[in-house]
Amino acid sequence: EFIEKYAKHPVYKAPTGNTLHAKSWQTEAPLRMLLNNLDAEVAEIPEELVVYGGIGQAARNRESLEKIIEVLLELDEHHSLLVQSGKPVGVVRTHPEAPRVLIANSNLVPEWATWEHFDELKERGLMMYGQMTAGSWIYIGTQGILQGTYETFVSCGQKHFNSDLRHKLLVTGGLGGMGGAQPLAATMAGATFLGVDIDPTRIEKRLETRYIDKMTHSYEEAIQWVMEAKEKGEAVSVGLVGDIGDVLERLIQDNITPDVLTDQTSAHDPVNGYIPNGLSLEEAAKLRKENPEEYKALSLKSMARHVEFMLELQQRGSITFDYGNNLREFARQGGCENAFNFPGFTPAYIRPLFCEGKGPFRWAALSGDPEDIYVTDQALREAFPENTHLIKWLDEAKEKIAFQGLPSRICWLGMGEREKAGLIFNELVRTGKVKAPIVIGRDHLDCGSVASPNRETESMLDGSDAVSDWPLLNLMSNTAGGATWVSFHHGGGVGMGFSQHAGQVILADGTDRAEACIRRVLYNDPAMGIFRHADAGYDIAKKVGDDNDMLI
Ligand code: NAD
Repeated sequence: EFIEKYAKHPVYKAPTGNTLHAKSWQTEAPLRMLLNNLDAEVAEIPEELVVYGGIGQAARNRESLEKIIEVLLELDEHHSLLVQSGKPVGVVRTHPEAPRVLIANSNLVPEWATWEHFDELKERGLMMYGQMTAGSWIYIGTQGILQGTYETFVSCGQKHFNSDLRHKLLVTGGLGGMGGAQPLAATMAGATFLGVDIDPTRIEKRLETRYIDKMTHSYEEAIQWVMEAKEKGEAVSVGLVGDIGDVLERLIQDNITPDVLTDQTSAHDPVNGYIPNGLSLEEAAKLRKENPEEYKALSLKSMARHVEFMLELQQRGSITFDYGNNLREFARQGGCENAFNFPGFTPAYIRPLFCEGKGPFRWAALSGDPEDIYVTDQALREAFPENTHLIKWLDEAKEKIAFQGLPSRICWLGMGEREKAGLIFNELVRTGKVKAPIVIGRDHLDCGSVASPNRETESMLDGSDAVSDWPLLNLMSNTAGGATWVSFHHGGGVGMGFSQHAGQVILADGTDRAEACIRRVLYNDPAMGIFRHADAGYDIAKKVGDDNDMLI
């Protein structure tokens, strides 16, 4: 009956309101968030259980999904569900403060950690790709990455353009689930924006959700719009249908040099993500099926060409950076030797934030009522009156962000701030100021939860880029601390073999139990960022650690 109502393939919807379907909010919360991940407003391809990021799935297949739902509906607070690459595989005996769901997705022993091996296992139904928040049930739509993208663009403006991105043209590729945050983040930061995507439906989705202003199939029209807007200093965003490599080639021919240049095509997956130059979407789908090796070779070659153009534009003056899709690595494999001549976004713009334990703190209102999010927004304004940057963000977010699925919010908070916010939310639930419990989670892209040498841990001060003890310690701390569900994944963001990362989500249901868990988890989680960066020798992290008396 529940499945019929909320999970009848392919139409998924999280229940809303404050009536429980499961035995407690501890299991109702993951159940709602799993279904929310698959809501057509949230997921890119719900009929394939794909949430975002190429083939990032929420459950391995329909059968697994139904089983997960069944178990969560019956699970009590003395047991926890084990999920292996999207398939429920067992229930273990635990206790009320333990996580209710323990998730491991896409993990392979290092020697076998390649897309080829993974694809073979996936083909045989033995694995799924969890991306970061797809398989760990805390994807909240494009907003999830919006503030991080905004922080990156603002930081880029501060570093290179005197904190002013007006009259600056930002060019990028990929307007999918995450990449679709770029137009709104860019215009919020004041820039004029041109984004290129080969798939018109992706741009249409951004138009519908108000992330992008205009769309066209014509290069000439797009250029006319953005050059006029740039001239006038208007923060306008334009989506152009096309291959990003081709468009960059045209820009070079036409002597147009973007001020900022980056990319968020699904380059991390050369077979199931990136579309090779010269192929239509249909041709790509056919070749992928018939001859994945040839597809991959074409894809790598196209990425090499794409990056050659980026390097040329960098030479001409574009501030160019990799935006976390491992494009440089695959371009290198495709024959572009200098692919790493432009930096990744983390060392360029984000690491100082990580050193303060800052990262993408997000929460969702299980009631389904947008008003609950506005109540939490207001509580944060009151809790952090000195943080004008945060308040500006909350104001703009309220005005400009269309909710997708369960109403949610994101903002980057650091050491101390996350715990404070979590406790405030728990009080809002306890005192009935919001209509149902709130879940608090984050991206795996965080200060102390990921090892990804071409992304979050690129160019670490002490060379410890590839050390993945840290995300494991993060997982263990959050499990021991009592997060409501925890996860450990491989390959998110940058693809198989290139990353390992941990996630956590914690429920604020207004109980004393939740308060105790929040005090532990929302301390431990950002603390991992301080430990990790202090250990690597970053002064800011050492200072924050000393100030909070947390280093040993
Ligand atoms: P997605 O699969 O939803 O979207 C990718 C888009 O790229 C699609 O719309 C596709 O049509 C387009 N595309 C593919 N090849 C193209 C080509 N040759 N020319 C033009 N467009 C092309 O993926 P997503 O969730 O948007 O993520 C995009 C990438 O960014 C992934 O690699 C992801 O891992 C990475 N990512 C980075 C961050 C970050 O903060 N840096 C965060 C999340 C994801």
